[in-house]
Amino acid sequence: MTETFDFDLFIIGAGSGGVRAARIAAALGARVGITEERYFGGTCVNVGCIPKKLFSYAAHYTEDFEDSAGFGWKSTEARLDWTRLVDNKDKEIKRLNIVYKDILEDSKVTIFEQRAEVTGHNSVKLLGDGKPDGKTEHRITWRYMLLAVGGWPNLPPIPGNELGITSNQMFSLKKLPQSMLIVGGGYIGVEFASIMSGLGTRVILTHRGDRLLRGFDEDVRVFIGNALARKVSLRLGTSVGGIRKLDNNRLLVDLDRGDPVETDLVLFATGRNPHTADLGLESAGVALSANGAIQVDADFQTSAPGVYAVGDAIDRMELTPVALAEAEVVVRNLFSAGQDRHHMSYANIPTTVFCHPNIGTVGLTEEQAVSEGRACDTYLANTKPLKHTLTGRDERAFIKMIVEKSTDRVIGLHLISQDAGEIIQGFAVAINMGATKADFDRTLGIHPTLAEELVTMRTRTR
Ligand code: FAD
Repeated sequence: MTETFDFDLFIIGAGSGGVRAARIAAALGARVGITEERYFGGTCVNVGCIPKKLFSYAAHYTEDFEDSAGFGWKSTEARLDWTRLVDNKDKEIKRLNIVYKDILEDSKVTIFEQRAEVTGHNSVKLLGDGKPDGKTEHRITWRYMLLAVGGWPNLPPIPGNELGITSNQMFSLKKLPQSMLIVGGGYIGVEFASIMSGLGTRVILTHRGDRLLRGFDEDVRVFIGNALARKVSLRLGTSVGGIRKLDNNRLLVDLDRGDPVETDLVLFATGRNPHTADLGLESAGVALSANGAIQVDADFQTSAPGVYAVGDAIDRMELTPVALAEAEVVVRNLFSAGQDRHHMSYANIPTTVFCHPNIGTVGLTEEQAVSEGRACDTYLANTKPLKHTLTGRDERAFIKMIVEKSTDRVIGLHLISQDAGEIIQGFAVAINMGATKADFDRTLGIHPTLAEELVTMRTRTR
């Protein structure tokens, strides 16, 4: 049997970008169809932001239990029940999957739960269609198509790479490994290093570069490297040559510097690529870049007329709020005729690395400001949080503010502290509004908080 559908907007991928686009387009009166091959809510909900943050909360308890002693608490030894953590996390993710599907159903979006492959300029194939298992064949036509297929983790081309896992499997391990080696010092590697060491795993992190977190402010990279080195064995300037399985089922990892390392688990946090392989985009004339990113213009239009793409698939900024905002720009421009055109700004997008302590950042790094030829004043603070005066924990907080001389505007703010993400989110509003250093100085602090340090930075460092 063949069922025919005609949509104003057909979306491939019900992750962050796809679901947002579907909901808004439907609210604007469009007839919308969406197909999802794996999980509603996409990477963020299932194997990204949400499970990662839940694990990060879990990992913080180790420090909280230790720190409580300084405040007079006597506690019996705390032990982690890994299975309970994973089960509870799974329950929450299942709940969110339903929430996302409900959003689509309530918006009267037509849902397909199949993998889509593009087969030509105006044709798409839903896998499983027309099979003898009784599946209906769908004939789908559309006015516009949105590709919101997200990204997928890379495995480095080294012998034995199949013995390692990626972030996709990290959230469903059957047991907590006693030891692990993380390959990659980007934000996912750094976050897992903090999380897993916090949960009790002995962690080695190898990274090809000399500093973690390429692209972040250099002072931030140095500070967080030192902070992480207290909990994790860092092997910087080191590459992994290959992995072998030993008779005892453990893994032996060859490094280009130093002795091989025996470990229980290897995690490849070696970047993600747009999930466009085998999607058939060439058949529709959609141009891709070398890493598979869908090429789009400022309106997110691909090289194929009527075909748009957003989110990790276009490889601009791989963050959930970015995918949401891009999706909203596309559908508002397509379906709210007569209104002002919407544009996506990538300036001042705040972000957090959920390592322990967090890195919260908004605006430019000092290096970016210099490379743009902007003369700046820099304010730095390196301070001991009040809490740790009693815990004895050797953890400090770091603040860096970059102020443009000609305008007095704060154009970069970087904070490393507990809950830095929560703090920076508020300051991002001020920075987006063009707040000057004088505005910061005029604002009274909330005492005693760490955040008050951000409005009391008086001494220029350079
Ligand atoms: P996705 O959310 O990946 O959605 C794409 C969807 O398309 C998927 O559900 C996929 O199954 C589906 N799909 C793909 N191909 C097809 C096909 N052919 N047919 C049908 N369906 C298909 N971002 C943050 O902002 N904060 C964080 O703290 C954060 N932490 C992260 C931690 C990790 C470990 C990872 C991996 C990512 C993290 N991210 C974080 C990034 C964030 O998850 C992504 O930027 C975001 O999910 C991108 O949304 P998207 O809509 O582009 O793609």
